[in-house]
Amino acid sequence: MSSTADLLARRNRTIGPYSPLFYREPLQFVAAKGVWFTEASGDRYLDGYNNVPHVGHANERVVRALADQAATLNVHTRYLNDRVIDYSERLLATFADDLDRVFFGNSGSEANELALRISRQLTGATGVIVSDYSYHGTTIALAEMTTGLETREPLGAHVRAIRIPDLDRDSRPEADVLAATLSEVDAAIASLQEAGFGVAACLFDPLFSTEGMPRVPEGLLPEIASRVRVAGGLVIADEVQSGFGRTGSHMWGHELTALSPDLVTMGKPMGNGHPMSAVVTSEPVLDAFGSRNEFFNTFAGNPVSAAVGEAVLLEMEEHGMMARARSLGRTARAHLDGVADSYDFVRAAKGTGMFLGLDFAVDGAPAPELAARVVEEMKARKVLISRIGRDQSVLKVRPPLAFGEAELPILLDALDASLASVRA
Ligand code: PMP
Repeated sequence: MSSTADLLARRNRTIGPYSPLFYREPLQFVAAKGVWFTEASGDRYLDGYNNVPHVGHANERVVRALADQAATLNVHTRYLNDRVIDYSERLLATFADDLDRVFFGNSGSEANELALRISRQLTGATGVIVSDYSYHGTTIALAEMTTGLETREPLGAHVRAIRIPDLDRDSRPEADVLAATLSEVDAAIASLQEAGFGVAACLFDPLFSTEGMPRVPEGLLPEIASRVRVAGGLVIADEVQSGFGRTGSHMWGHELTALSPDLVTMGKPMGNGHPMSAVVTSEPVLDAFGSRNEFFNTFAGNPVSAAVGEAVLLEMEEHGMMARARSLGRTARAHLDGVADSYDFVRAAKGTGMFLGLDFAVDGAPAPELAARVVEEMKARKVLISRIGRDQSVLKVRPPLAFGEAELPILLDALDASLASVRA
């Protein structure tokens, strides 16, 4: 086994130093099972961060489904296959009745790209409204909508980015905050129309994950959606992070926020690490796009992906993972609320279900350096978390949904100890 220093040097000479690594001293994992990683040293680390291994790292059912189907048949969708249709039905059954059609893809980026393409074709417009600190993927179209991150392309001329408010950081009454944001949306729509782009879509992560899980005014997303619809645009919910029961209370993040999207995109946890994604939509939208485009995606929706996707849904169901995320999330959130009350540098607890955070601030100003120190302190205690947000001041606790009752106290104890050592 290479030493960390050797491996780092070889990495820099091959894939380069620009692809980000976590931690001042990067970790080199050799295995993972359930919610535990094994490091090269043999030490075990608790995974409080990764959402892709949704039903647990190296989940037996998923691995077996993948291997069995790969050993039986793996082919594109130009032939009939019952596994693929079984999975489509099972996935669609998790949605409201009007979201009853699915396109498959291989990554979250691909799903968002397709949702935008559909929106453009159906509306004849190109304008898109996003949040001003969001991430939706790697393609050119999506990079033109990614704002605030260091790797951005210039904002597209047809893109308007609005600022998502956070009531935890805003002293105005909630109704005023809502009204101010909606007038920003109205201005964005007017500006897209004046410039001749029109409004093709709005694209939001219902939990505003990248933005740092702001506490938004009640009804914000439905209000934005209705304005976008009046302007002729479609509503896209990017559920790459918020989907598949992450919130504990709902299978899909948009349900939590009472948003009724025209298109829902998903990825990351869908295949527990096997690359797969989807756009879920309604029959009229699928027909309008499908009848005009021969859409074929070589690897998407193949029987191996279907077998894996189905195994993920079955594992979630059989182990009651959503209900557990809900109850553990409640316990964890109550603990974090207590932390926010007792530490003057913690502005607020954030999130719901198995997606939680703490926002650090000193004298009202974001304190990213404190968040960074806590992340390192947690690592020293062998628990993995990260941070998010416009200012990178919000801790990101987003473990696999396989996270259990035994693990929560380990994570919370490590957090308490880390906070105490940062305060000291
Ligand atoms: N949307 C959101 C909300 C994401 O968090 C990500 C990935 N971080 C993407 C889209 C892009 O997904 P992928 O990396 O699978 O292309």
